[in-house]
Amino acid sequence: MRIETSGLCHTDIHAAHGDWPAKPRLPLVPGHEGVGLVERVGEGVAAPRVGQRVAVPWLGWACGACEWCIDGWETLCPDQRNTGYGRDGTHAEFVVASARFVVAVPEGIDPLDAAPLTCAGVTTYKAVKIARVGPSDLVAVFGVGGLGHMAVQYACIAGATVIAIDVHDDKLDMARDLGATHTVNASMDDPDILLRELGGADAAIVTAVSPRAFEQAFAGMRRGGRMVLVGLPADNTFTLPIFQTVLNGITITGSIVGTRLDLAEVFELHSAGRTRIVRTTRCLEEINEAMKAVEAGDIDARVVFDLR
Ligand code: NAD
Ligand code: ZN
Ligand code: ZN
Repeated sequence: MRIETSGLCHTDIHAAHGDWPAKPRLPLVPGHEGVGLVERVGEGVAAPRVGQRVAVPWLGWACGACEWCIDGWETLCPDQRNTGYGRDGTHAEFVVASARFVVAVPEGIDPLDAAPLTCAGVTTYKAVKIARVGPSDLVAVFGVGGLGHMAVQYACIAGATVIAIDVHDDKLDMARDLGATHTVNASMDDPDILLRELGGADAAIVTAVSPRAFEQAFAGMRRGGRMVLVGLPADNTFTLPIFQTVLNGITITGSIVGTRLDLAEVFELHSAGRTRIVRTTRCLEEINEAMKAVEAGDIDARVVFDLR
């Protein structure tokens, strides 16, 4: 594929720092929000066609035969290959991808929008599904960066009342623009206090890159609430009070990206005009500066590299 656009996910920064227990392959080309045109196909590949616009997500390949793959949980395949982590990714002019795991980008979606949808979009769309968000729910979104700004929108589409929490005021303004009715700056106020005043969160989607946010989310849950862990901070642990989890019947779930079908649904919603991407464009040569800006919280909400 010839890459047109590639989004900078915070995961690329974790990869560059070696933050996680599972280390990336080195040397590595990161990037897993790649959008581009098929340049050439291997023998026997019927789809996609040469010239077609497709997206290359984190789930670069899964076996299709294990118990998770055949049960619709290809994102949990033990043999999966991850784009921009276990194999070279999309921050490059060209990438080789598995024909079965690229997802067609519908006509009319701007490639600059398609890129963030390919990870930030599909991941939070799936998290909102996993949280079983419904119209009478109060949903707390912790972290309003690339992922969080999409989580706010998908929770709103599900009909929920959304409270957004971040440590930067401009991110909170953006969250209100995108449909959140309440916001808390966690560097100044305890979000769990407002959450409890509002009756507690029926669901929390935690995308913040800080264990403290996971503890605050837990403290703000309503009885029977569902807390979905999405962010992957380098500091890998948080304290979970057993007594409150048990007596309040809290569900804690991890959620990892989404399937090819989830991504197709994400594109469908965007085509229908129901989501908006907040992004800033850079050229690939500016990647180091862009990573620093994301870490400093200076980006609303996604950096997208434009290689055209
Ligand atoms: P980002 O940097 O764009 O957004 C993170 C946001 O969290 C920022 O707005 C930041 O200000 C905010 N934040 C930091 N500390 C906070 C705190 N204490 N309380 C509230 N907010 C706080 O990053 P991103 O690209 O959205 O990724 C977020 C995390 O999700 C990363 O760890 C990334 O690796 C992970 N991720 C997980 C999946 C998955 O499938 N589970 C997929 C993609 C990314
Ligand atoms: Zn990602
Ligand atoms: Zn499998």
